[in-house]
Amino acid sequence: MTPQLWDSINDYIHEVFGREDEALARLEREARDAGLPDIAVNAEVGRLLMLLARTTRGRLAIEVGTLGGYSAIWIARGLAASGRLITIESEPSHTAFARRQFKRADLADCIDVREGLALDVLATITCELEPNSVDVVFLDADKREYPDYWAQLKPLVAPGGLLLMDNALASSSWTIVDEGHPHRDGADRLNRLLADDPDFDAAMIPLRQGVLVARRRD
Ligand code: SAH
Ligand code: MG
Repeated sequence: MTPQLWDSINDYIHEVFGREDEALARLEREARDAGLPDIAVNAEVGRLLMLLARTTRGRLAIEVGTLGGYSAIWIARGLAASGRLITIESEPSHTAFARRQFKRADLADCIDVREGLALDVLATITCELEPNSVDVVFLDADKREYPDYWAQLKPLVAPGGLLLMDNALASSSWTIVDEGHPHRDGADRLNRLLADDPDFDAAMIPLRQGVLVARRRD
């Protein structure tokens, strides 16, 4: 496939599957105006996250890397009515922005923003939560640390629960063929770990920058 053809296919995907409501469009505008980095997932990936969350019990989700809350809102919309999302972010200006967005989207009660470095916050969370209690994990923070996030989170994932990982194939600064790039290598390690994990069924969705989807076997 030529790069031009691939671009046209992506334009098609965006046209047909990339719709979002005014609340999310407004979040994106405000994030741009506030100078947040333009690295959130897009609406096509957001829709996928919501759909996949809906295939689980939808009681508890954990996101690593909140930014402005765009992906968190999609995930929260895929949870059950009483579902809860814990989202982790180290940058105070990002948590402040996201908290405002969650309040406005009427999701402040079901989204718990934890500010701090992911590995520190995860160490606390893993003590708070029961094993097998998490239905959806979404990784989207520091790619170099992906395998470490997973080492902490794997025991928490319920049978039938999902691990979803953004930037499984690329980001704005590397692609999966750039061997030796530390962020690429982190994503690659976790891709390979999941592909070979007998406890999980895993597949790669090459949407946008790649989304790894893995489901804990029953
Ligand atoms: N999931 C978001 C985008 C996340 S971008 C969305 O699609 O809407 C990655 C975020 O991870 C950034 O906000 C960055 O500040 C945060 N981050 C990077 N390293 C981190 C770390 N070690 N701990 C916690 N957050 C981190
Ligand atoms: Mg990402």
